[in-house]
Amino acid sequence: MKPLSGKVAIVTGASAPRGIGSAIVRRLADDGASVIATDMRGSLQIGGETHHRTELLHALSAELLETGSTVMPLNLDVADDDDIRMCIAAAVTEFGRVDILVNNAGSLAGSDNFLSTMPDQWETSFRVNILGPMMLSQAVIPEMRKVGGGRIINIGSTGSLGAEPGFGAYTVMKHGLVGMTKTIAAEFGVDGILCNIVCPGYIMTDMHAAANERLAKQAAVGVDEIRKQRYATVAVRDAGQPEDVAEAVSYLAGPSSAYVTGICLPVSGGVPFGI
Ligand code: NDP
Repeated sequence: MKPLSGKVAIVTGASAPRGIGSAIVRRLADDGASVIATDMRGSLQIGGETHHRTELLHALSAELLETGSTVMPLNLDVADDDDIRMCIAAAVTEFGRVDILVNNAGSLAGSDNFLSTMPDQWETSFRVNILGPMMLSQAVIPEMRKVGGGRIINIGSTGSLGAEPGFGAYTVMKHGLVGMTKTIAAEFGVDGILCNIVCPGYIMTDMHAAANERLAKQAAVGVDEIRKQRYATVAVRDAGQPEDVAEAVSYLAGPSSAYVTGICLPVSGGVPFGI
């Protein structure tokens, strides 16, 4: 039997084919979970082409159906409480339970030098990186209690553990997500609900490529130079892959981590956390 057979997972921000979210969906499905793969409505730019997120989610679901997995695509803006209510209702109607929540959706809004960041960027960053995980966690905890426990896994960043210049609001919110993780771990361990945060370093996704391009523009150098500079600080001298993060999530969702809660697990190849 697979380690997550009979379990039901919700993963946010999962439409990008080379994103961390879709890698997590694939991994949890492979572990035997039924997965609700969610993302916002609207479109996504990949390599200069426009893709509809809903279509990407349906393609992911169809791909995994062929391997015998159950993946339900669903539109979910993590900052919209109506969407959250509908998501939980869909999970309960379709599968009868919720066991695992992965708060993966994240926003780089307000990632800039501190003096350049604007209040509306901070608000966007707060809504996606803090308010969304908070509202979703509040919505799933009663469902997890009904089935005797669950796992909430937040996706932070090495920017949750230290600061480097140029990431303003993002660093602040990702630090806040550590506090939320520990708060949930402290309050709901008694209900069998474990909460941990995975902190990726440089992971080769479209979001990471966009950050490299922005830093290159700011420094008026090429993207290759920025990559060289950033990866020179990584112990293993390279960026990681979305599957590396998915592996850590699989561990924290599965039976091997039954006595682990409130931890920050960096998946960073040994990147220094800054100050
Ligand atoms: P992606 O941009 O591919 O994934 C994040 C997804 O969340 C995007 O589809 C994004 O949409 C979506 N999103 C934004 N706002 C909302 C919302 N309101 N509701 C639902 N979804 C939303 O990035 P990654 O795969 O790189 O990142 C996944 C997670 O990993 C994020 O939390 C990120 O902060 C974290 N991380 C990534 C690192 C990396 O190197 N890639 C390093 C450290 C942490 P949109 O594209 O429109 O913003």
